Amino acid sequence: MTTSIRQFRQSAFIAIEDIRLQTALENATGRFRAARATALADLPDPDAMRDHFKKVRAATIANLAEHLEAFERNATANGSHVHWARDAAEARQIVLDIAKKHGVTMAAKSKSMATEEIHLNAALSEAGIAPVETDLGEWIVQLAEEPPSHIIAPAIHKTKEQVADLFTKEAGREIPADIPTLTAEARRMLREKFLAAGMGISGGNLGVAETGSIVLVTNEGNGRMVTSLPPVHIAVMGIEKIAPTWDEAALWLALLARSATGQPLSIYTSIVTGPATHPPAPSPAGRGGDSPLPDGRGAGGEGDVDGPQEVHIVLLDNGRSKLIGTKYEEILQCIRCGACLNVCPVYREAGGHAYGSPYSGPIGAVISPLLFGLENFAGLPQASSLCGACKDVCPARIDLPRMLVELRGDEVASGLLPWWEAMAERGAAMMMGDATWMRVGLGFGRVGQGILSDDLPRLAKKSFRKMWADGDVK
Ligand code: SF4
Repeated sequence: MTTSIRQFRQSAFIAIEDIRLQTALENATGRFRAARATALADLPDPDAMRDHFKKVRAATIANLAEHLEAFERNATANGSHVHWARDAAEARQIVLDIAKKHGVTMAAKSKSMATEEIHLNAALSEAGIAPVETDLGEWIVQLAEEPPSHIIAPAIHKTKEQVADLFTKEAGREIPADIPTLTAEARRMLREKFLAAGMGISGGNLGVAETGSIVLVTNEGNGRMVTSLPPVHIAVMGIEKIAPTWDEAALWLALLARSATGQPLSIYTSIVTGPATHPPAPSPAGRGGDSPLPDGRGAGGEGDVDGPQEVHIVLLDNGRSKLIGTKYEEILQCIRCGACLNVCPVYREAGGHAYGSPYSGPIGAVISPLLFGLENFAGLPQASSLCGACKDVCPARIDLPRMLVELRGDEVASGLLPWWEAMAERGAAMMMGDATWMRVGLGFGRVGQGILSDDLPRLAKKSFRKMWADGDVK
């Protein structure tokens, strides 16, 4: 995985020329933007809620080790197996070992960015285990043999005609490009896979430390099937996705759905608190019975035979812990809602594939170099106009533009920028820091602009200062 600025530009230019892609991107991101605005407007004071959430996330990350230990303790007491993965290779190995132990030949998956991050599907296939994506969007991109192009809407770039072609090939008969027919076909084809799978693999939108529960947010119900039908369930989750208590989890969920899809709450919010037939851990004082919820709903316990016999939770570090205490710690507050993608003028033109990373858009431009190496993703911090729209919509108010600028600084400091670009940036900084140099530079620019591309905007014949001095400005 690498994306230089040259590769990003090339991919973006191809995407910009693709009218079908541009239409699909603008329609989908436009719908998400409008829905988010409406959903947040329904709240009494969304800005205060976001301010509060920012504080909650910052405080959680500041004490992450403590919350993770509490999570592990409670999840283990519920009968789940908690595994720690330092990097992608360890996480893949943990999943493969569990699959091998149970003789699994097919795994049903629900949508998970963490498993995209560790390239789990390729590892499963190599080990002779067929991974089947069961989220509709993920399944479409799996059939197309493409990576997802949006954090929450993996097939955002596909039209219904393209989906119909993929389904026709998979089913071996003509499937019309009609959305109800396509979804019915997907349901029919996927249901067989759920029943045949020996293992279910999910992500985890968040883990709740006080009860050791994993929360999954979906709109299709496939998350429930993946976590309850196969005999073994593995959840792979980044270590930063922890809410200390259910109060914080409730705030998280309220902002996640509104920011992501503009829903007050996603259609399915599933809570996994250990395997079936195992008594859950005693609840904290003041909480309702053995339920993970404050009002006692969802109480399980011995005799609850639904669900898998084994639940494994893989806590994935993969570069996250090294960000704690640095100028990039704030990025760990992200809840992967995707709102910053939908407003980003660069993402909306370039699409997700140009980023060359499972994480695209402004969050991808920051987190990909941080997790996977600045030298590998040197182009991404440049893939932003720094307009600030991402920070404006972020439910955790993450200052993505600040970190993009910091990463650009790191690139210069570590010599990752080509010499001519570093020179040009130094020249621009010198010009902008001194009025005389600015005048001289613009003077040369006026003379030299004739040889530049016609696509660039022309400099005015007279500068504003000159117009002011000549009395042209009234
Ligand atoms: S950075 Fe903010 S807006 Fe972007 S995905 Fe993360 S939480 Fe959502």
